[in-house]
Amino acid sequence: MSQPHSTRRAFVAASGSVATAGILAATSAKAGSPARAALSVSLDQLKSDYDVVVVGSGYGGAVMAARLAAGRSLCVLERGREWSPGTFPSALLTVLAQFRGPINPLGLFDYRAGESLDVLSGSGLGGTSLINANVVIAPDREIFNRWPASIQQDVLQGRMDAWEERVRKVLSTDQVLESDGLRKHAFHRTTTLARSRGGADTSFQPLTLAVNLRRVDQRPNEHGVAQALCTHCGDCVTGCRVGAKNTLDVNYLPMARAAGAQIFSRVEVEWLERLPDSRWRVHVVIRPDGGAAQHRHIIAASVVLAAGALGSTQILLRSRAQGLALSDALGTRFSANGDLLGLGYNTSVQTNVMGFGDGVAPAGERRVGPTITAAASYRNHPTLSQRYLIEEGAIPRALFDALRLGMPPLAGVFPTFPAAQRVARDLLYSRTDGALNHSMVYLGIGHDSAGGKVVLDSNGNARVLWPMIAQEPFVTRMRAEMERHAQTFAGRHVAPPRSGPMFGGALTTVHPLGGCPMADAADRGVVNANGQVFDPRGSSGSVYANLRVVDGSTAPTSIGVNPLLCIAALAERSAERFTS
Ligand SMILES: Cc1cc2nc3c(=O)[nH]c(=O)nc-3n(C[C@H](O)[C@H](O)[C@H](O)COP(=O)(O)OP(=O)(O)OC[C@H]3O[C@@H](n4cnc5c(N)ncnc54)[C@H](O)[C@@H]3O)c2cc1C
Ligand code: SF4
Repeated sequence: MSQPHSTRRAFVAASGSVATAGILAATSAKAGSPARAALSVSLDQLKSDYDVVVVGSGYGGAVMAARLAAGRSLCVLERGREWSPGTFPSALLTVLAQFRGPINPLGLFDYRAGESLDVLSGSGLGGTSLINANVVIAPDREIFNRWPASIQQDVLQGRMDAWEERVRKVLSTDQVLESDGLRKHAFHRTTTLARSRGGADTSFQPLTLAVNLRRVDQRPNEHGVAQALCTHCGDCVTGCRVGAKNTLDVNYLPMARAAGAQIFSRVEVEWLERLPDSRWRVHVVIRPDGGAAQHRHIIAASVVLAAGALGSTQILLRSRAQGLALSDALGTRFSANGDLLGLGYNTSVQTNVMGFGDGVAPAGERRVGPTITAAASYRNHPTLSQRYLIEEGAIPRALFDALRLGMPPLAGVFPTFPAAQRVARDLLYSRTDGALNHSMVYLGIGHDSAGGKVVLDSNGNARVLWPMIAQEPFVTRMRAEMERHAQTFAGRHVAPPRSGPMFGGALTTVHPLGGCPMADAADRGVVNANGQVFDPRGSSGSVYANLRVVDGSTAPTSIGVNPLLCIAALAERSAERFTS
């Protein structure tokens, strides 16, 4: 099913200023995925100085670029590459080949293995939106009690609601419906109700998603970018090959481009140097297509760091090592957002959690749905630190083989014949009736102590130290509840292998936060409520007025729900308060 020429022409015409840019190369693109004009421009167009340099193109960077570009010379520098929908990896080997590292600095998945905590984020134009699960959800207002006073005021006076609403609108959110008939959604509802009847204080919450479930089919969205409808393939976290995810490259980044921003991919910022005239020298590595990496610098009147929790912290740690005076709080208050992964393995009910990647989209009730569609909410608890969500998830196609073979030894022997038969079917590669497709993926999200510390390793890369994270109360609390969910239909809870002693005992977070925490003064934080970086040499509260951090690194606490809405809403706030 290829895109009709008339639709493609209409899309290119609607793209206005982007019409002259090349259509993104899609040599191995999935047939039928929408063609898109490139947002990023050639590296030859990189100028020597700008009014504003935005570093990173995730939620913080994309919002800031969209709101600040008009009337300023502004560029976005993104270390990863620009992706077109049909080219995301969907098999184990192609996914593994996209892990970022010294020999593949343009890889899509930035996986940093630590001693007790691994961190996964995205690298590419659009940041982690490219590989996230699209859940858009507002945090409990009590989290802000430990944030700067002016943010607390904005929350009390309803301004935070307004910024969140603005973000939801740009991201075009929607929800799956009961009538979509998704089995994993129904399964999670049933087990959540069973837990509630069993005495747990929980309720089922369908989640709002940044996914094109019904809006536009193979035609340009309101930002002139062609999108297709979600096929319910379940592969959101390895990148949407269909073009249905409302990632930042289909909304905020085209807004930035339309407002005049120059967007560059393959440009990695290494560190910042303050010049005598208070401007910034931004030291970068550029990686031209097929060419050798080159070191350059760019002068900026103002810099917005939006490179994510590890990225922005890394840039500031390196800048401090080169002499920039920064708060002692740099690197502190790193939070895993109380993330805990689990699997309810081999239940008696077919759940359809297995993504189908490039395969033909199964119709009707065999569809998977977006990676996450709903949560069991435990957010009624009077104590904030004890509130959490258990979201249901899907297994991307690329991981199926590894899990169908890896799970049986980890889960142990199943005493009933049907359960053992399902395990055998998985070993024989029977996909839909096997144990894995009778399982439920769980992502727990809650509150931790934000007790991690980000430091630089000997290569100057950020790593997280948090030896006691596995002892945090959220781990035991959520694990016990995941076990009970799994047992509702005779399943067995299995923790990810990496968290067992054989594989190092590390947890994994997909929601890294902190490292550049915000506070009212430099003795407690790295940035103020607007994201401006404290200058600890001045009086309490004095800042480098033209250096900001606007991304997940500024959260001084866990957020307790999926964080993208909070990060983007705070970026809307920072953009409103931008003065130089
Ligand atoms: C698998 C997965 C699923 C998730 N699901 C959800 C979800 O459903 N809902 C939700 O709310 N959150 C989800 N998240 C988390 C969410 O996507 C992140 O919290 C959010 O993207 C963070 O936004 P950010 O602006 O802080 O940074 P990011 O979005 O991570 O963007 C940072 C950008 O900066 C770039 N960068 C880094 N260093 C440099 C440098 N030195 N120079 C230039 N560029 C640099 C990176 O390549 C990246 O593009 C998920 C995350 C993962 C990994
Ligand atoms: S379920 Fe598939 S088609 Fe739908 S948003 Fe996710 S990856 Fe895209």
